[in-house]
Amino acid sequence: LYVEAALPGDGMLTLGPDQSHYLANVMRARVGDAVALFNGSDGEWASEIASVQKKAVTLSLGAKLKDQRKEPDLWLAFAPIKKARLDFMAQKATELGVSHMIPMLTRRTIVDRVKTDRLHANAVEAAEQCERLNVPTVGEPIKLDKLIADWPMDRKIMFCDEDLSGTPAHVALQAAHDKSDPAPWGILIGPEGGFDDHERALIRAHPNTVVVALGPRVLRADTAAMSAISLWQSALGD
Ligand code: SAM
Repeated sequence: LYVEAALPGDGMLTLGPDQSHYLANVMRARVGDAVALFNGSDGEWASEIASVQKKAVTLSLGAKLKDQRKEPDLWLAFAPIKKARLDFMAQKATELGVSHMIPMLTRRTIVDRVKTDRLHANAVEAAEQCERLNVPTVGEPIKLDKLIADWPMDRKIMFCDEDLSGTPAHVALQAAHDKSDPAPWGILIGPEGGFDDHERALIRAHPNTVVVALGPRVLRADTAAMSAISLWQSALGD
């Protein structure tokens, strides 16, 4: 269970109403049940349920179970898509090891309001499920022009361009990666309608951009994100 609290803490931890409800009513947890806890920075800790009330479950903290692992430093910038697919994208990106998710507003982005708290909730759920010990951060929605203008000079851009002109991803990534001084990466995935020509030119003009193709078929945005992360992992990551 992910907790926003210091671990090991002072021995007892009372969960907020949402997590208490989840444990008490959804998981039907009982006094004495074991719950493994992580907070993103201090590893994993054993705990035991000490008391159960509908809106307040208290845990007594136990021994450290695992040290914090180092997760890959990989950003995913994507144009928000419809709710169910966005949930799916946030969950799967978390399972596949992304460190930071950035909702990116493009000319053809059809979803204008992005619920970053919902993205975070999906990331928490997926992190708990896949036993990763941290939760990817979620950036505020940002316009593509600004994202590119502010892009860190020491981070490479894996630009997934559906015009299929790019080199196959694993080849392009390995060629662009300097093993003696490895830079972190960020993946850029466009909206369902694709990037427009102006946007494509803007991204390509950035000195850190590496244009990649994800195979010969045009993938939906959520499929493209999963494919890009997997290809990045197989070429460079873990
Ligand atoms: N513009 C396209 C159209 O309407 O035919 C579709 C865009 S696609 C659904 C959404 C995004 O996925 C693209 O902007 C691109 O970032 C990525 N993508 C999909 N297939 C890809 C591929 N084969 N290679 C690289 N990127 C791809």
